[in-house]
Amino acid sequence: MAANRKRKVDDENQQFNDDWTVQYYFVQQHTNVICLLCHSTLAVVKVSNIKRHYETKHQDFHNVVGDERTAQIESLRRSLNRQQNIFSKQTADFSVACEVSYEISLMIAKSGRPFTDGDFVKQCMITASKELSVRKLQKVALNRMTVQRRISHLSADVTRQLAEKAANYVYFSLAADESTDINSTAQLLVFVHGVSSSFDITEELIGMGSMKDQTTASALFEETVQLCSSVSLDFTKLVSVTTDGAPAMTGESNGMVTLLMKHQGKQNRRW
Ligand SMILES: [Zn+2]
Repeated sequence: MAANRKRKVDDENQQFNDDWTVQYYFVQQHTNVICLLCHSTLAVVKVSNIKRHYETKHQDFHNVVGDERTAQIESLRRSLNRQQNIFSKQTADFSVACEVSYEISLMIAKSGRPFTDGDFVKQCMITASKELSVRKLQKVALNRMTVQRRISHLSADVTRQLAEKAANYVYFSLAADESTDINSTAQLLVFVHGVSSSFDITEELIGMGSMKDQTTASALFEETVQLCSSVSLDFTKLVSVTTDGAPAMTGESNGMVTLLMKHQGKQNRRW
């Protein structure tokens, strides 16, 4: 009775025997055994189960013998290891990415920035990683004074490029809109749409002017003229102005548009 029970336990918890790899294409991994041919795993190391699996599913391999069988097993074993390394690398990559995602989300939350900044930060990281290793990345200056200076340089460059194009305009039109921002300051936006002699058409925001004290027609006019001067627009080539229709813009006797027409009239009126 006792002998029977002992035999049963032994049968269910056998030590993996390396000969089973050659006989049945099975290898041991941790506490499991895995079939090299179909990657099925058996939780219990039991020769009868291993043998049954091999004989029912892989009988075609009975004919592979000797060196050919040994070489095939080695190749299958390498392929299994390779596959498992890829999976473990992907898992490691994912967990690092997840950790970074949490750290950046925390930085966004602590700085009170909108959640949508996450996408922007990701784009920044991709741009940086294309060019720099981590060591070089740490040398990238991004303090607030540097960021302010860089944006100022970029803005000046955009203005310079627009001025270059404006010099070639044959005609141009303006669109002006004045709106009040969240701090109750009126902001005037002026856009230009210009065409060169070679039909190169550009449409750009010239700039935004803060109307600090008042939004009278003359204040709007002066701001518009100043914005246009910043990109050296020649008013003799102005052919139309589109506005938001506010009285200060369109007033017949002294609206901003009328003042622009008078200003142009001193030079060479076309409209
Ligand atoms: Zn199998």
